[in-house]
Amino acid sequence: MQLIETIHEMQQIVIKLKKQSLKIGFVPTMGFLHEGHLNLIKKAKSENDITVISIFVNPLQFGPKEDLSSYPRDFDRDYQLAKSEGVDFLFYPSVSEMYPSEPSVLVTVTDRTDVLCGRSRPGHFNGVATVLTKLFHITLPDKAYFGLKDAQQVAVVDGLINDFHFPIELVPVETIREEDGLAKSSRNVFLSEKEREEAPTLYKSLLLAKQKIVSGEREYNQIISSMETYIQENTTGIIDYIEIYSYPQLKPVTGLEQKLIIALAVKFSKARLIDNIIIQLNE
Ligand code: AMP
Repeated sequence: MQLIETIHEMQQIVIKLKKQSLKIGFVPTMGFLHEGHLNLIKKAKSENDITVISIFVNPLQFGPKEDLSSYPRDFDRDYQLAKSEGVDFLFYPSVSEMYPSEPSVLVTVTDRTDVLCGRSRPGHFNGVATVLTKLFHITLPDKAYFGLKDAQQVAVVDGLINDFHFPIELVPVETIREEDGLAKSSRNVFLSEKEREEAPTLYKSLLLAKQKIVSGEREYNQIISSMETYIQENTTGIIDYIEIYSYPQLKPVTGLEQKLIIALAVKFSKARLIDNIIIQLNE
């Protein structure tokens, strides 16, 4: 595995690889790798000639009161994990490499961000879309891999790739969970022992809601309020949102959609956890 820290070197490498008609799979991450990330890497490796991953904690996508400075990092461990997964290139730029001066152009996401995390984290998806636009130009991937744990991000990236005509195939990958159902996340290390015990409640509440929808229940407000009660009774977390929309459009449910998303965010003392389930209707 080659470690690359400059944009210029990364671009020179991928330009050469493309001249040899090699297919590039790209997995953007913020590091502190876990099995969710490793599964994206495995998928990228199985579908491409070359696998590039990036580790970059992007300041632009964190709000002023969010956890940028405390975001967990362990580069040496990440390096070893990426190497043992067979990653070909690890792109690890500094903040000053990615943002050498005040940006003169920023990407603004105009759809799919007025709900869910877009509403509770204003500016977050603009930061994501801006850094991904840079990373796509730097790594020139044929396919880019994103986890459905961040389903709204997948929907936003779908819009970015289509609207900006990136010749990239978006590959959404299922959520990897702990044995008790908790979605793997770099932020899970911030849960206290008690919160860690409570946290699988989030996924359980999603499964209960899914069961109701699959068996024909369509009173979405009631489904949401029973999820609220379930989470409030079984955790000390504060509910940020629980919402149900069409997917990937993220519009209110009309009854005509093929897919629905039930998504939630819950704040624990030091970690805000998100999770979701996507339901295929009319199967
Ligand atoms: P992050 O490092 O949190 O920005 O995540 C990098 C990529 O890994 C994103 O596409 C995430 O959606 C994905 N990811 C994070 N956690 C999981 C998980 N538990 N299962 C699948 N993908 C995940």
